[in-house]
Amino acid sequence: MAPENKTEKKRAPKMTGAASIPTLHTELLIDGQLVVGQGLVEPIFNPATGETLVSIAEASIEQVTQAVESAQRAFPGWSRTTPAQRSAALLAIADAIDKRADSLARLEALNCGKPLHLARQDDVPATADVFRFFAGAVRCQQGQLAGEYVPGHTSMVRRDPLGVVASIAPWNYPLMMAAWKIAPALAAGNTVVFKPSEHTPLSVLVLAPALAEILPPGVINIVSGGGESVGSQLVSHPKVRMVSLTGDIVTGQKILQAAARTLKRTHLELGGKAPVIVCNDADIDAVVQGVRTHGYYNAGQDCTAACRIYAQAGIHDRLVAELGDAVGSIRFARKRDQDNEISPLITARQRDRVASFVERALGQPHIERITGAAVHSGPGFYYQPTLLAGCKQQDEIVQREVFGPVVTVTRFDELEQAVDWANDSEYGLASSVWTQNLDKALQIANRLQYGCTWINTHFMLASEMPHGGLKRSGYGKDLSSDSLQDYSVVRHIMARHGRDLG
Ligand code: NAD
Repeated sequence: MAPENKTEKKRAPKMTGAASIPTLHTELLIDGQLVVGQGLVEPIFNPATGETLVSIAEASIEQVTQAVESAQRAFPGWSRTTPAQRSAALLAIADAIDKRADSLARLEALNCGKPLHLARQDDVPATADVFRFFAGAVRCQQGQLAGEYVPGHTSMVRRDPLGVVASIAPWNYPLMMAAWKIAPALAAGNTVVFKPSEHTPLSVLVLAPALAEILPPGVINIVSGGGESVGSQLVSHPKVRMVSLTGDIVTGQKILQAAARTLKRTHLELGGKAPVIVCNDADIDAVVQGVRTHGYYNAGQDCTAACRIYAQAGIHDRLVAELGDAVGSIRFARKRDQDNEISPLITARQRDRVASFVERALGQPHIERITGAAVHSGPGFYYQPTLLAGCKQQDEIVQREVFGPVVTVTRFDELEQAVDWANDSEYGLASSVWTQNLDKALQIANRLQYGCTWINTHFMLASEMPHGGLKRSGYGKDLSSDSLQDYSVVRHIMARHGRDLG
C-alpha cells in the first residue's frame, strides 16, 4: 500500500509570535509531492492575539489543475483497491494523527485561538476516530440481495466510487472537517483534492507529509487558498465529479451554479440556527448547563450551536435569570490555557459581524440584554458571551445564523406554537427538546424538521450517526455509513442466463 516516498524536504517557515512551534509544513500536497504554493502569499493569524503566525503562498491556477489531473490519474488504481486495503490506509492515517496529537492540537489552538486543552481533548481524538470509523464501515457495507428479478436474468447491485472529489472545508474545526470529508471519500474509493479554509490551513498541511507516505501519489491532494481564487477553480474543473462543501449558504449557491455546468454531484453542509425547546417540566439545571456549554462552545462558531431558545412561560423567568448568571461566568481570554472555556472569533471581520447583529437586535425596544453584548477590550478577536431575552420570532437575531457566542430566548405558551416557531426557519440542521416527559419529547422530535433532534442534550455527535441538514442547511450526510453512500454510486449489473443446465 505505501507508495514510493517522493516527498522532498523543504525549509520549514519560521512562525512568528510568542507561541511558536518547532516544525511547520506549509507546502501543498500535489501528486505525492510537497510543493510550495505559487499563488498569492497570505498571512495566517492567531485569533487569540491578532498576531500574524506565518505567511503562506496559496495554490496557483496551474497547481489546482495539476492536483485534479493527479487525482484523476490515481483514480483507476485506488478505485480498484479492496476495502481491506483502503481500510488499512485509513487506520494508518488515524495512527499518524495520534502520533502527532500534541503538535496538531497546538496548531489547531494557535490557528483558531481554541483553548489548547480542548483542541487536544476534543478535536484531535475526534478526527482520528472518524478515520477509524470509515476504516471499519467500508468493510461491512450492506445492500440489496442479488437475485432473479426478471426470469432468466440475475441482477446484482454494486456501489462504486465517483472519481475525483473536490472537498472544501470551513474554519471552525479544521482537522475534524477535513476528516469528515476526506475519510468517507477515500474509503469509498474516490481520489480527493482537499481545500482547507484560507484562514486555517496549518493543521492539515502539517499532516500532508504523513498522507504522502501512506497513500499512493494523487490519491489525496491538498491545495490551500481562498474561495474565489482556489476554490472556484477547483469546483469548475471539468474532471472533478463531485464537490463536497461545508460552508455558508451563499458559497453553496455559488458551488451549485459552477457544478451545474458539468453536472457534478454536490454534497452541501450549510449552517444552522438550532432551536432549543424548553418545556415547563424540563430539568432547568440541566438546561442551564447544557446551553452554557453547547450554545457557546467554540464561541458559537458551530452550525449546531444551541442558539435559539424557546422557553415555556412557566420556566421562562427562572431560565433567563439562571442562564444569564451561568453565561456571564464563561471564562475566556485568560493567560492560563486551562482557565479558558471558549475561543475568540476566527477573524476581526467575523467578530464585527457578530457585534453588528447584536447591535441591531438591541436597537429593538422589546429585546433585553441579559449579559455580554460587547467586544472584549483585550487583544484578540473575542466577543463576550451574550444572552438576549424578549426576542420575537420575526427578529433578525432569531432568524439568521450569527455564528458567534450569542443565544436568544423567546417565550412561548403552547407547545404547538414552539414547534411551529422552531420549524419557521430557513435552516434545518439541528434542534433539541428539553422535558422530563419522554412521550412529549418524542412527539415534538417527530415533528421537528431538522437533520438531528437531541432530547435533554444538544451538540453530541457520534461517528456512527449521520450528520446533515434539511432546507437551506443543505443536503448530504457527513459521518455514518450514509456518508459512504453519498460518496459512491449504486450500479445494477444484470446477467442473462445461458442455455438450461440440462
Ligand atoms: P465559507 O462559505 O465562507 O467558506 C467555506 C469554504 O468555502 C472555505 O474553504 C472557502 O474558501 C470556500 N469558498 C468560499 N467561496 C468559494 C467559492 N466561490 N468557490 C469554492 N469555494 C469557496 O464559510 P466559512 O465562513 O468558512 O464557515 C462558516 C459557515 O460554514 C457557516 O455558515 C457555518 O454554519 C457553516 N458550517 C456548516 C457546517 C455543517 O455541518 N452544516 C459545519 C461547519 C460550518
